[in-house]
Amino acid sequence: MENPLSLPSLVAFIRAVTQDSPENRLQHFADSPIFDEPLVAVADGDDPLFEEYRQVIGSHHLTPREMLRLSQQTDRRSIDADLAHVRVICWVLPITEATRRSNAVMTSEPSMRWAHTQYYGEQFNNELRHAVEQCARKHGAVAIAPVLSPLFRSVHVTPDGPSSTWSERHALFAAGLGTFGLCDGFLTAAGKAMRCGSVVVNVPLPVTARSYSSHREACVYFTQGTCGDCQSRCPAGAIGPNGHDKVKCDRYQEENLRPLRERYGVAITGCGLCQTAVPCESCLPT
Ligand code: SF4
Ligand code: SF4
Repeated sequence: MENPLSLPSLVAFIRAVTQDSPENRLQHFADSPIFDEPLVAVADGDDPLFEEYRQVIGSHHLTPREMLRLSQQTDRRSIDADLAHVRVICWVLPITEATRRSNAVMTSEPSMRWAHTQYYGEQFNNELRHAVEQCARKHGAVAIAPVLSPLFRSVHVTPDGPSSTWSERHALFAAGLGTFGLCDGFLTAAGKAMRCGSVVVNVPLPVTARSYSSHREACVYFTQGTCGDCQSRCPAGAIGPNGHDKVKCDRYQEENLRPLRERYGVAITGCGLCQTAVPCESCLPT
């Protein structure tokens, strides 16, 4: 077994996988990178926020400690593991400028480059989740990537659309990586044109401090009553003064973007117009 997992080695590992992996490449676009250098932070798995998420998201949402404990029941090797410390390793994978620029000029559907970034980028993100999980285990930790685990499932509990047993963006909020915007996107220091991931471990890694006090603090619509640009970017009218209408957004993808699947050669996951050509695209808005 190797030395205990440390934060600097973990950050270096996540950056190295992102830089070197052939999965982090757009084959149809000269093999250019899908994501820039990741942001990495750590949440305390016993942060009271995770209990509060049960009220916000639903009672089906699992805490990090539950994730580890339930995963142990299916993993005989770690059944007696020490769970004195629970941490959530979180990362942000910023979408490259070339991809953001390609989508910023679109008005009703995503660019092909954006669609490939969403599709192949999530495949790379899964590889990264798995790699971080394996890296932690090699260092003797109990680790679970919730999104790859059998514990992860979609639950239809509200008229607002489905939600799942684990929200990575809420884990990122707890880890101090950003706050939510009007469009329901997650605003980070690298912007909201990004994808994110998380792995839960039983290692006493240092917890990242949060520099904000509310879940909408970075969005100037809520703090200053300005902007609202994501509303006008949305071709589905799915963003209004009260936020994001997930049902309308999903219907637009299904009814209007389905023909693109054949043209682009990937299953379209979202138009992402609300993530580009807006002031929070690649940084925090001021
Ligand atoms: S575009 Fe403006 S209103 Fe929309 S999330 Fe970004 S900062 Fe908030
Ligand atoms: S992803 Fe959904 S909310 Fe965002 S612009 Fe497209 S349809 Fe609108």
